[in-house]
Amino acid sequence: MADSLEQVASEVRVCQRCALAQGRTNAVPGEGHPHAEIMFIGEGPGFHEDQSGRPFVGNAGQFLTEMLEGIGLQREDVFIANVIKCRPPGNRDPEPGEIEACNDYLDRQIDLIDPRVIVTLGRYSMARWFPDARISKIHGSPKRVGNRLIVPFFHPAAALHRAALRDTVDADFKRLPEFVQQAKNWDDDGSEESDTPDIDDSTGTQLSLF
Ligand code: URA
Repeated sequence: MADSLEQVASEVRVCQRCALAQGRTNAVPGEGHPHAEIMFIGEGPGFHEDQSGRPFVGNAGQFLTEMLEGIGLQREDVFIANVIKCRPPGNRDPEPGEIEACNDYLDRQIDLIDPRVIVTLGRYSMARWFPDARISKIHGSPKRVGNRLIVPFFHPAAALHRAALRDTVDADFKRLPEFVQQAKNWDDDGSEESDTPDIDDSTGTQLSLF
């Protein structure tokens, strides 16, 4: 049977691959457009996410939603997921074994959505593509991986705690349309395409976002 986002989500909801399963109220598979051009990957569910089973619905989520709206996007236009799908007790940092146990779910989600741009939010998602990097140095600087751009952003919670970061986060978000356009202009050889169609009804590709 072909893999699907629903299949991943249903496995996540009953997952017992690590000890976080015992403490969760709800697992949080992620949500959004199934062929989103932009995928956000946070760290892991907090209290409100654990209660609701949805990603980024607390204060940090509200800030993320506002930042999206600032560039003309709704949450439904993007896909929002996390590195780990269950809340660690007391919101502690995820442990390596927990990240490892969840890796396959995130890999499958990325493969299925096939986003043009992945935005990492926080240390643990950044570390997948930028091990040992410091967010203060590399935020907003994209790295090409295949035909996709990976862009590290500050975690929205960091901007909530440090007001001075808000303008920085705002400026990084404002560059997202440019990153999407850049990634859409590559064809499979990595050369620039002159005529990228905006609509592909046959594959359900997302309409041009910007
Ligand atoms: N912080 C995260 O990293 N993810 C969420 O879903 C909520 C808060």
